Amino acid sequence: MSEAEPEESGMALEFPGERHVLEADCARCPALVACREEISWGTGDLDANVMVVGEAPGAGNPEVETWRGGNWTGKAYTARHSGRRVRELLAEIDRSDAYVTNAVKCFPCDGEGSNREPTETERENCRTHLLVEIETVEPTVIVATGKHATTTILALEDRTIDGFVDRILAPIELADLGTTLLPILHPSYQDIWRAQLGYSADEYRTAVHDAIRTALDDDSS
Ligand code: SF4
Repeated sequence: MSEAEPEESGMALEFPGERHVLEADCARCPALVACREEISWGTGDLDANVMVVGEAPGAGNPEVETWRGGNWTGKAYTARHSGRRVRELLAEIDRSDAYVTNAVKCFPCDGEGSNREPTETERENCRTHLLVEIETVEPTVIVATGKHATTTILALEDRTIDGFVDRILAPIELADLGTTLLPILHPSYQDIWRAQLGYSADEYRTAVHDAIRTALDDDSS
C-alpha cells in the first residue's frame, strides 16, 4: 500500500510500500536497540537493477505526517530531506523501483537527539544484513551515498579506499559481488561538496543520472 505525499519540492513522490525485514527485532547492537524506534529496513523491488545504500537512519521527525524518517517509518530513506532527495533522483531516471537501504539499519543516537557515527562493531554487525540484500537483489549498480556507505560496501570485499571526494561518480568494479559501486555525495552534505567539486545543482544531478545510466548500459552491452 502506498500513500501520496503533498508536493514539497515540485515532484510528487510515492511513499515506499513494503519493507524487507531480514531479522525482526535484531538486537546485535545493544546501544542501537536502546536508541531506535524502528529498524529501518530496505524497500523497493527485489529484482531492481539499482540499489541505493546510505549510512544509517537519522533521528527523523515524528511530528511529520508521512516522511518522518526511517527511525519512525521502519523504511530506509523516508525522511523529508534526505529521503525525498534520494527518491527524487531515482524518479528522475525512472528508477523509483530501486532497492533502497542503509549500511547500518538502526538510528545511532548521540544522546542529544542527533546522529553519531556508527562504531566499527556496529557496522560489522549489520554488514551481514547488507550482504544478504546484495545477494538477493543482485543489482547491476550500487549507488552509495557518502563515504561511510562506500567503505562499508568495499569492506564486503576486504577493500578500502584512500580519500573519498575524488571517488565521487567514479565507478568501482566489485568482482566478488558481481556489481558496480558508484559513490555519490551524501544528500545531507551534497550542496556543500558539489560546489567544491565545481558542479552547479543541475550539473551534479545530471552527472549522477548519467553515471547511473552508464553503469546500467555497460551491463547490458
Ligand atoms: S544496526 Fe543492524 S545489526 Fe545492529 S541491531 Fe540494528 S539491524 Fe541489528
